[in-house]
Amino acid sequence: MAAMAAMARKRVVIVGGGFGGLACAKALDGADVDVLLLDARNYHLFTPLLYQVATALLDPSDIAYPFRTVFRRSRNVRFRQVRVTGVDFDARRLTVAGGEHGDEHIPYDTLVLATGSANAYFGNPELAERTIGMKHLDEAMRLRNHVLSCLERAAQTADPAERADWLTFVIVGGGPTGVEYAGALAELLDMVLGRDFPELARGSARVVLVEGAGRLLGAFHPKLGAYAADTLRSRGVEVRLSTLVRTATDRAAVLSPAGDGESVTVGARTIVWSAGVGPHDPLHSEAVPRSRSKRLQVDDRLRLRPGVYAIGDVASVTAGDGELPMLSPPAMQEGRYVARAIRAGGEPAEPFRYLDKGTMATIGRRAAVAEVGPLRLRGFLGWITWLVVHLYYLIGFRNRALVLASWGWDYLRRDRPIRLVVRSRFDPVVASLIPDEPG
Ligand SMILES: Cc1cc2nc3c(=O)[nH]c(=O)nc-3n(C[C@H](O)[C@H](O)[C@H](O)COP(=O)(O)OP(=O)(O)OC[C@H]3O[C@@H](n4cnc5c(N)ncnc54)[C@H](O)[C@@H]3O)c2cc1C
Repeated sequence: MAAMAAMARKRVVIVGGGFGGLACAKALDGADVDVLLLDARNYHLFTPLLYQVATALLDPSDIAYPFRTVFRRSRNVRFRQVRVTGVDFDARRLTVAGGEHGDEHIPYDTLVLATGSANAYFGNPELAERTIGMKHLDEAMRLRNHVLSCLERAAQTADPAERADWLTFVIVGGGPTGVEYAGALAELLDMVLGRDFPELARGSARVVLVEGAGRLLGAFHPKLGAYAADTLRSRGVEVRLSTLVRTATDRAAVLSPAGDGESVTVGARTIVWSAGVGPHDPLHSEAVPRSRSKRLQVDDRLRLRPGVYAIGDVASVTAGDGELPMLSPPAMQEGRYVARAIRAGGEPAEPFRYLDKGTMATIGRRAAVAEVGPLRLRGFLGWITWLVVHLYYLIGFRNRALVLASWGWDYLRRDRPIRLVVRSRFDPVVASLIPDEPG
């Protein structure tokens, strides 16, 4: 009887262990179902602090947590590191990319798609090739290595024009990621130029933040966007609003006004992309409805079809006159909502309702903006709120302790010790500095 009961247990497969998928799997821990969590990487990534890895403040392992550790004590949640390449809804099975024996199929009773989003370049292959994104841990590491290598190269050249190019950093996109990275990069440059790099004068680097709209932080109240722009300018960042990056090469970005006007070329060896994301859609099937933003269109109970849910960035969840933004709180709430329905043994009884707990972004030392309901915080108060909230949501006591220690060290000592340049074959600037390893 026990064996039959075990066989009768439903099999829930969750694809993607980001904010949505992990929240769903955790909420199903201990439930009367077998849960299989699939992810192409073996860790959950806390993306809100990715820019701090890219600016040498945090180590990669401080913001990543292995799935197998999360579910070490679970009786019913298992993990496999695989990349899902397709779904056969009629046969109720997934295809995962070939291992030793080629492609494999994994059956499910209930499927939760939570594959998140990827960089989107508005169909411009040059931007995709010439800019560095900041969506994944390897991109953040690449950016850290690249920027530090640019400083080394600038310190080695006697040509002022070439040095200026090495020391110019163009950031595309004035949303939270672009604003946070611009502020943190300006701080890093201010800390090391003239000090660890006596060859380079303090203030000789240029950080240019380019935004197509007329203001920064479009999702926030205009006053908070204006505060972010003023704060960044006061810290030496050039903020160029209503400006688009038309194209990019290895040595320059071509900027033009959003309306009419002449293009300008800005010599820069670093162009960072934080301007666009699109859904990371594993279905590759025209049969599934998409929204205008190409996200999977789900109904008011987050269903793509009976027994198949889509949540988080990959899903278009309608709220009011638009869709919910690509942020971690909607993804987590959607994950928990789906888990509740699965625990209850059927389809969700009530439509999904999003509880907006607010949004926030940091601009740098002692400066952040936060919007919580009608409350608008900025400056030091906003910054403290930002610190507390991010520490709270970070997974694992070790990670919290290490992040807190790194923040304290950075704040009190004005020092970022993780400034190691590690060779990357994918970045020609880094590779040019470090020769091939012998053997
Ligand atoms: C730099 C940066 C900063 C951010 N800052 C904030 C912030 O401050 N606040 C905020 O609310 N939001 C922030 N976001 C947005 C937030 O990260 C996303 O909204 C959130 O991660 C969405 O959660 P998700 O579960 O939909 O997807 P994700 O968290 O992106 O997770 C998707 C998972 O699916 C896996 N996956 C994808 N495709 C496959 C496949 N085919 N097979 C197997 N696995 C797959 C991926 O490996 C990944 O682990 C930030 C994003 C970035 C990139």
